[in-house]
Amino acid sequence: MKYHIISYIKAPIGESGECCKSEYDFSNACDFCGTGAELVSHLKVKGFSKISKDFFETLDGDFIISKRIYEVIRKIKPDFILRPVIDLKGNILEYYHLYTSIVLPRFEVQSTGYVIDGQCDKCKRNGYFNHAIISPDKPTIVSPLNLIYKEPTIGFYQNELLLKTWECIGLSNKVAFGNNIVGYARPWIIVSHELKEIFESEKIIGIEFEEVIIIK
Ligand SMILES: [Zn+2]
Repeated sequence: MKYHIISYIKAPIGESGECCKSEYDFSNACDFCGTGAELVSHLKVKGFSKISKDFFETLDGDFIISKRIYEVIRKIKPDFILRPVIDLKGNILEYYHLYTSIVLPRFEVQSTGYVIDGQCDKCKRNGYFNHAIISPDKPTIVSPLNLIYKEPTIGFYQNELLLKTWECIGLSNKVAFGNNIVGYARPWIIVSHELKEIFESEKIIGIEFEEVIIIK
């Protein structure tokens, strides 16, 4: 059993989610900041014309795969279902939202490679960031992310290809104020080893995998 955190290491493309009026459910979300809002509609997007990539991330932190890759995965895993994204007029586009509603429990306290900043006092679920060392005359170094889970915890999800972390990256605003627009922090997305192998066999550009650490 192996799992991997995915990231997109090139510049994000297009907008998605809250700013495009996608619909969210707040049953399990923080009343104060909105972290944990669950997408219930197709992901609405804009700026998706002329993209010839199999995998990318939007400016709002949503991961997208092409219809081609979706079909490759579905040939191997027919039960794997994703929703296509839609434009602002409601037209279905040839891209799929790499998304799941399955949330892992919190990662273990020994996890490293992240920092917490500007976290919501009520839910303490957002405000996570990858730890980066920024120096003026050198390229930024992003620390490896070591998310640790106990074997029985993650083993419960062993048949899932796609999971997300309880912890969410960046800040959330349930209500717009000042210069802050409405937005919900996104989780880290975790894929099974099987899904990683499919991405690798298709030679997807811009994707990076960091293995989740599983302890007894
Ligand atoms: Zn909160």
